Amino acid sequence: MYINGEWLTTGGTFSVANPATGEIIGEVADGDQNHAKLAIGAAVAAFKGWSTTTAYARAEVLHKAYALMLERKQALAELMTREQGKPLKAALNEVQYAADFLRWFAEEAKRVYGETIPSARADQRFMVRYQAIGVVAAITPWNYPISMITRKVAPALASGCTIVLKPAEATPLCAIAVFEILHEAGAPAGVINLVTARDPVPIGKEFCAHSEVKKLTFTGSTAVGQQLAQGAAAQLKRVSMELGGHAPFIVFDDADPVHAAKGASLVKFLNTGQACISPNRIFVQRGILDSFVTTFSDRVAKMKVGNGLAEGTSIGPLINQAAVKKISRQVEDAVSKGAVLHNGGTRLADGDYSAGHFFAPTLLSNVNEDMLIYREETFGPVAAIIPFDDYDQVIEMANDTHYGLAAYVYTQNLSRAMRAFEALNFGIIGINDINPTSAAAPFGGMNQSGLGREGAREGLADYLETKLGGFSI
Ligand code: NAD
Repeated sequence: MYINGEWLTTGGTFSVANPATGEIIGEVADGDQNHAKLAIGAAVAAFKGWSTTTAYARAEVLHKAYALMLERKQALAELMTREQGKPLKAALNEVQYAADFLRWFAEEAKRVYGETIPSARADQRFMVRYQAIGVVAAITPWNYPISMITRKVAPALASGCTIVLKPAEATPLCAIAVFEILHEAGAPAGVINLVTARDPVPIGKEFCAHSEVKKLTFTGSTAVGQQLAQGAAAQLKRVSMELGGHAPFIVFDDADPVHAAKGASLVKFLNTGQACISPNRIFVQRGILDSFVTTFSDRVAKMKVGNGLAEGTSIGPLINQAAVKKISRQVEDAVSKGAVLHNGGTRLADGDYSAGHFFAPTLLSNVNEDMLIYREETFGPVAAIIPFDDYDQVIEMANDTHYGLAAYVYTQNLSRAMRAFEALNFGIIGINDINPTSAAAPFGGMNQSGLGREGAREGLADYLETKLGGFSI
């Protein structure tokens, strides 16, 4: 753990395993509620000094961290592949994405402008300033184990907040590597604190209960987000919630089916389907259904499953056996209710796969709303294709979910693209585009996919409090 500028160990530790091989790759300090208290105390003590340094000084730390992260890109990516499983090329992309947040928020730190507002009274002046909220508690998931950290830590530091982070228990080594960078970049003692723990519950409780934590920022499942938001509500703490998704991917019949199938297969199997913006329901208009399915299936057949460090691997392992079970259940349920299985459909457990958590990339067509996969987040390498007939029908089907994170639309018709963009109840919409994300663009969901946005100007505003001054002159 890293508390008040120092690395700490505890009596207890927990092991971190490589999901591709089962090999234990590290032992990490097992923190508890007292460590969370200690870390919050350090963040409280550091807040006054950090929030009153200049934005230029805070930006300098983030710029240095950006440079260090890029210097260590290869080593960080290899660590991520060993700890989380994604293929090395995807890990390299994630490290770049993570570093982008450090640079973007270093730049934005200097642009926290206030406002003056004309008053109706001749003797009055209004001034608005934005200031750091205070101590922030953050909880991050394992699926993007470096970028989900910088997406929170960078705006916290840029705004003048201090922070305590609890990373996912599956990927604490990546978190430790990020904190080594922030330490070397010159973050003062107490400004950033890391509490690793096997059991997240007591830490989450302390984050909610401690009166000096002013904001709770969480990325993870909707169920846990709801629980934490309820806990934070007792003291009306600010919350940012980046939660689950169930993205529709809509392909209209004027789209090029080959191009659309290529896009859908790339984004579906990104990170072995373990992405919050992963398409969970692929709606294809009947006129191009056959050519879409054929192209998609050919692409799935060529995917190579294996250890992410091996050359040519396109699909890594799942994070654990619970994930393998959940996916098997969704596939069995769909097939038993009439879905057509084109590729995969089973766990891979022989030979090199035997010690890891592997599932064959799977393509199902003829999926319908009676199947579990139509409603439940899959978070694995299963693509589900659903046919549709017309525009109104597909928009209604796409919006028929309590999630609202990402959606995708493929069409060559500009007016249809614009209408769909406006009608879909999702926070992020890719139009003929499978990567609508960037440090400069607001990321976040509607409905039960979350509250608030990360990245972009909005991502900094979420760490700032608005203060109005009314001056009688
Ligand atoms: P999860 O909710 O189980 O865990 C996320 C984090 O919360 C981990 O650090 C975990 O230790 C912690 N946690 C779990 N239970 C807790 C509790 N009771 N109190 C406090 N902390 C607790 O989710 P996961 O399986 O790690 O991640 C996958 C989920 O995250 C998916 O639903 C995915 O869609 C979502 N996600 C969302 C985004 C986004 O930006 N919207 C990004 C990545 C992942």
